[in-house]
Formats: sequence, C-alpha cells, structure tokens
Amino acid sequence: MTEQEGVIQFDLRFRPGAPPPRDAVALLDGWRGVLHRLQLIGRDPARYGGLGFGNVSCRRGSGFIISGTQTGERESLAVDGYCQVTDCDPTVNRVEASGPVRPSSEALTHGAVYRARPQAGCVLHGHSSEIWQRATNLGLAVTDAAVTYGTPAMAAEVARLLDAAGMADSGVFAMGGHEDGVIAFGPDEDTAGGLLVAALACALTA
Ligand SMILES: [Zn+2]
Repeated sequence: MTEQEGVIQFDLRFRPGAPPPRDAVALLDGWRGVLHRLQLIGRDPARYGGLGFGNVSCRRGSGFIISGTQTGERESLAVDGYCQVTDCDPTVNRVEASGPVRPSSEALTHGAVYRARPQAGCVLHGHSSEIWQRATNLGLAVTDAAVTYGTPAMAAEVARLLDAAGMADSGVFAMGGHEDGVIAFGPDEDTAGGLLVAALACALTA
C-alpha cells in the first residue's frame, strides 16, 4: 500500500505555544535547508497530490523538536516552523505537542526511532525516488510495505528493522509502504544529514 502524504493519522493533543529556542533548531534548520535544495524536502504540484513532503527533528528534553505539518514548501523555517513534541507513544498512537505549528504528520515515525534508539539525536525524513527505487541495490534496509504507518505496528516494525540491520546509533533506511520515503538518523544533525546526502550520492552512482 502507499501512504497518503501529509495526513495526520495519530491522536494529536496539541497546545498552541511559544516556538522552541533558536539555538535548539539552528543546525537542524540548516540541514533542512540542504535537503530542501536537494528536493528531498519540498512541495511539488506534480508529486504526492501537491502536498508538502519531508520533515526533520532533533531530540530535546524528554521529547523532540519537529518541523510543522505542511511546511515543505518553505526554504527555511526559522523557529516558527517547529514545535516541541512533549510526549510520543507509538504503541498507543498518541502525540502530545506544543508550539506555533502542529507537528508533522510523520511525527510518530520519528518518535519510533527515538524510542528504539536512545542514542539517536536527530531524525531526517526525505523523499527521493532515486534512493527509494534502488534501496535494495544500495544495501539499505526497507520496512515492510504491508505495515501501515501511524499505527503501533509501525513502531514495532521500525524497532525490528533497526535491530535486524544492525543499526546502532545511526543509519539510513527506506520506508517500504511510503512512496519515495527515506529516513536517516544519527546522534547529531551532521551525522544524519551526511548519511542521507551520501545515500543520494550512491543512488545517483548506481
Ligand atoms: Zn513522507
């Protein structure tokens, strides 16, 4: 099956509030800008029904900061395009967040990575047909296409995949049921960003 991009499928408890501090999102937004230039994040009338795609997050406190839903079009988000996820429990499909924007529709997937890998400090989700279509040839792990994202089964599938692929504190994997979807994570923004751009370079070489 193919997921519909941009539709929030979890139980969202959202409180409008102040944006995260600038220094907490500066490097994350810099990497988001790189991914936007590479068209791994964006909005294109010819792709996914014109909905925005791609989102970024970094761990903060007991939760994480994530880009807002339907912000893909913007080159830079500054602080007002991010919110703080204060609680995320993929096993019951629930996200609690506060900030100037609602969290990305894929917040639960980010939460599943943070939950499965306590060392992960940054999760980047981009859309690349080049990486996605060649994922197996590139040696990338791919989540089971039959697992519906935004469900407790998804969190279990992400955890299973990270274990099976031997990804400890960083890695790249493709999302089987989510067209063009690729996720990179690492202890920090530079590691995750570098891995995702390196995967694109490999895909363009393949
Ligand atoms: Zn996506």
